[in-house]
Amino acid sequence: MNPIIRTQIPGPRSREYLGRQARFESSARTYPRNLPIAVRRASGSFLEDVDGNVFIDFLAGAGVLSLGHGHPEIVRVVAEQLGEYVHGLDFPTPVKDVFTRRQLDMLPAGMRDRMKIHFCGPTGANGVEAAIKLAKMATGRGDVAAFHGAFHGSTAGAMAVSGSRYPKDVVANGMPGVHFFPYPGCGRCPLGLTPDTCDTNCATYLERVLTDDMSGIAHPAAVLIELVQGEGGGIPARPEFVRRLREITTRLEIPLIVDEVQTGCGRTGTWFAFERFGIEPDIVVASKALSGIGLPVSMIIYDRAMDRWAPGAHIGTFRGNQLAFAAGVAALDIIERDAVLDNVLAREAQLSARLAELAERSPWVREVRGMGLMWAVELADPVTGAPAGEFARDVQLAALCRGLIVERGGRGDAVVRMLPPLNVAAEVVDLAADILTAAVLTAETGAPVDGEAAACSSPSPRSVTPIGTS
Ligand code: PMP
Repeated sequence: MNPIIRTQIPGPRSREYLGRQARFESSARTYPRNLPIAVRRASGSFLEDVDGNVFIDFLAGAGVLSLGHGHPEIVRVVAEQLGEYVHGLDFPTPVKDVFTRRQLDMLPAGMRDRMKIHFCGPTGANGVEAAIKLAKMATGRGDVAAFHGAFHGSTAGAMAVSGSRYPKDVVANGMPGVHFFPYPGCGRCPLGLTPDTCDTNCATYLERVLTDDMSGIAHPAAVLIELVQGEGGGIPARPEFVRRLREITTRLEIPLIVDEVQTGCGRTGTWFAFERFGIEPDIVVASKALSGIGLPVSMIIYDRAMDRWAPGAHIGTFRGNQLAFAAGVAALDIIERDAVLDNVLAREAQLSARLAELAERSPWVREVRGMGLMWAVELADPVTGAPAGEFARDVQLAALCRGLIVERGGRGDAVVRMLPPLNVAAEVVDLAADILTAAVLTAETGAPVDGEAAACSSPSPRSVTPIGTS
């Protein structure tokens, strides 16, 4: 299958839906502002809008759709479960029992018997809230150390431990006791050092603050980190930093919470990113891709020594979605049978090589970085080095008009991000890389975005294969 662009973007029908949405939905709506389409249906790595335009979808539900849209085997399993039992609160059920066991089995051998699962309200943010709450209860401490550039969700506690300043500027009185530390993204070193010297300086700084009796910071209940910052701009932490962080937190008896909401479930090529970094955290938060097909589920996996909370300490009505559990078991079967994690590593090599070529061709590409199938192209003014948010917006729209959906994030929204399904085919990755390259080069010429959209309006489809046939 190929992308097919039949209309100007947005097409006439999308325009109608977007208009109604703007009238009736909140101003906080987000994705369709940058990706102005209304979606009709989707299959695998492709998505069709209401005007019949077909796009390669490298947003994939913000990293949720690990096996693409509507994987037919999972759809079948979910349909069967729908007639059996759907809403389970936290009662044990056969399908939840298998899901729980299979999830624990995915952990490295040393962790399997040591860890327990708590199912949370079905969002990543709720998992983060549960993790923080558990760490506070288990340690009897109140403060949390988090990192600049982090994103952990939109609820009050998750927002408090996230880096974005906007929500804090406009919503007063967030969760107190959060202390931010520099994240080792050496492309823009937070300490202003050069890449060769910055590897462990963030760790040294963190260690000094946490051990300095004049630092002003109480001994924290937890250190919370994303091993690859997602919304913060697709920044993998330096491996040496992560190893030192684990060593420091163990020595100081501070639980290490790893937020694997985005990096988990195979996204970085191992089931959890912490395996690739060679560490074992005390609490893991997982959510997005647990069901493989977009059915909501969220959980924390934690050291059973911390299991000190009372019955009902973290409740929630929607913690027992049996459809998601059934889907998650089927997703694991498929991931193992089809060696999907091998595909992640093979596509990682391919995408990294293709994006390196793009970096050679455009002075606007400041850094290409990623891990597994979580890739980022940071765009910056070639002269000043300032984050090029407007340019990134043009690139995103130019890519959309050519049939590729990509995400944006990072400081100044200047990072183009790709989160393809983990079973994406090599040919689709190549097509996407071609489109992104064309989009960057087009944006460089300074052609107005409307001009770009008009160029996409030619009703000469590049392929006529209807969606759902491959
Ligand atoms: N943590 C991370 C690392 C995330 O990427 C996200 C979502 N992008 C969240 C937490 C919040 O997840 P949710 O939107 O499901 O609350």
